[in-house]
Amino acid sequence: MNPVVAIEGLEFRYREGDFRLGIPELAIERDTTAAFIGPSGSGKTTLLNLIAGISLPRSGRVVTEGVEVTSLSDSERRDFRIARVGLVFQEFELLEYLSVLDNILLPYRINASLRLDREVRDRARDLAERVDIMDKLDRYPGKLSQGERQRVAVCRAVLTEPALLLADEPTGNLDPVNKWKVLDILFDYAERTDTTLVAVTHDQEILDRFERVVDFSQFHEYGELRPAQHGELVGAGP
Ligand code: ADP
Ligand code: MG
Repeated sequence: MNPVVAIEGLEFRYREGDFRLGIPELAIERDTTAAFIGPSGSGKTTLLNLIAGISLPRSGRVVTEGVEVTSLSDSERRDFRIARVGLVFQEFELLEYLSVLDNILLPYRINASLRLDREVRDRARDLAERVDIMDKLDRYPGKLSQGERQRVAVCRAVLTEPALLLADEPTGNLDPVNKWKVLDILFDYAERTDTTLVAVTHDQEILDRFERVVDFSQFHEYGELRPAQHGELVGAGP
């Protein structure tokens, strides 16, 4: 079957700074779990952003869920990401002025192609129940613990039932109890729904749970970067 992520000849750099990421080829098979590891600053978050279509490479192709994200317009990439990719950001990115329930429902509020109906609301409540935050749905994120915030972020990421779930250090700031809770949620979801889970982590303790480990130390000495051409998109940031 087609991989859920296929990358070819990717070269990326930010507008500022010397960081460069070169990936000649990377395929992530459907229905697998993969961990991205590597030292801080090695480009793990950058690659998640490229896979999700938040950023664009200087050259190369990124095909995510069969869609060549590198050839979409900005607004198409945004809609694609919200509808098709579940993202758990490193800092959760909850909106402080929305209740927990409305944070979970957010993808349906910001993408016109997604319809917020009864079924979606029921699904949001089911998810909240599974992760034990049912009694927090009317609260605002400021009144939650880190572990609870993380669980809200996970609910939001899976609500659209994406075939690809990207989680950026999902257990980074959590105590051991919440760490395993959040991992269970991610892995349970991936298993139950045949979703591919890609998680950035530098936690040796959890690596065993992943079927595949992608080490970023291999991605640095690749290819020659040419100077950016006028008008070319270079690492359009989020
Ligand atoms: P990791 O997630 O592996 O810690 P990142 O992908 O966040 O690494 O960052 C890779 C490198 O790119 C780092 O050196 C970081 O400082 C740099 N970087 C990240 N974001 C930007 C940006 N918006 N502009 C310029 N440099 C950036
Ligand atoms: Mg990072």
